[in-house]
Amino acid sequence: MDIKNGFVGTVGNTPLIRLNSFSEETGCEILAKAEFLNPGGSVKDRAALYIIEDAEKKGLIKPGGTVVEGTAGNTGIGLAHICNAKGYKCLIIIPNTQSQEKMDALRALGAEVRPVPAVPYKDPNNYVKLSGRIAAEMENAIWANQFDNLANRHAHYETTGPEIWKQTDGTVDAWVASTGTGGTYAGVSMFLKEKNPEIKCVVADPMGSGIYSYIKTGEIKIEGNSITEGIGNSRITANMEGAPADDAIQIDDKDAIRVVYQLLQKDGLFMGGSTGINVAAAVALAKQMGPGHTIVTILCDSGSRYQSRIFNREWLQSKGLLTE
Ligand code: PMP
Repeated sequence: MDIKNGFVGTVGNTPLIRLNSFSEETGCEILAKAEFLNPGGSVKDRAALYIIEDAEKKGLIKPGGTVVEGTAGNTGIGLAHICNAKGYKCLIIIPNTQSQEKMDALRALGAEVRPVPAVPYKDPNNYVKLSGRIAAEMENAIWANQFDNLANRHAHYETTGPEIWKQTDGTVDAWVASTGTGGTYAGVSMFLKEKNPEIKCVVADPMGSGIYSYIKTGEIKIEGNSITEGIGNSRITANMEGAPADDAIQIDDKDAIRVVYQLLQKDGLFMGGSTGINVAAAVALAKQMGPGHTIVTILCDSGSRYQSRIFNREWLQSKGLLTE
């Protein structure tokens, strides 16, 4: 028998998919972890599970307790599912600039959602800081703290990294992914570098984020902006601290959107914007490295979460992103 134990037992062990059109174009094997096939629909299910189980092991949350988080969406969705499956309540603080689909999904899942104005991290009313204060004032509650809680990257060090190593039979030459918290990128990089220090680890960054300049120059410098959600940062999180990074690649929205549509029309994969950044960076890296290399990235979440944005002509046009 081959049976998964509930929602929790279904997180991870995602397929590694060859992106045929991009592989043929570049002469490299462009492979991607199908994280949108996690039971909560994104790469963040892994972090959500590890964060809650870490708190359980440390005795920080008891039955009936509340998990509080400030999240752009996918972590909240993962947390809401896991809270239901484990008997916890879930309170999500979200910037009011995030897509309606994500807020609707969270409420449908039973989470309490509090949208707050989007203000910079340095502001005490930033959604992440607010979520920490709210959790501290509640009884039997934990703050998931995905940006700085190392249980996040540990999930990827223990699961995503080893899966990639096994699924490629150790033939992976390069790993490239964008960072929100940095948990996915850092956990996988740390695991792969331990297995083989020759594996090239590269950060993919959207415009409007400071991670690209940080890796290139050691300084956070932010230029432009991006319609992508859940990725990019203006600081180095605890999860990113000390993560190996050989290089960084910056991708603009035009390129990301072109890749999202190629994934849909040529590869049959309906993906969100951060996946566009990831796959565009994998293609750029393939061109740098030359044919014959195996490059792995992440398919973060489904395009269905962005139907009113990336897959809506009027919206794309309003952002100056409508092309052939
Ligand atoms: N893509 C999407 C759509 C996300 O929601 C996130 C997480 N915010 C990421 C990518 C990046 O993942 P991580 O937090 O592990 O860096």
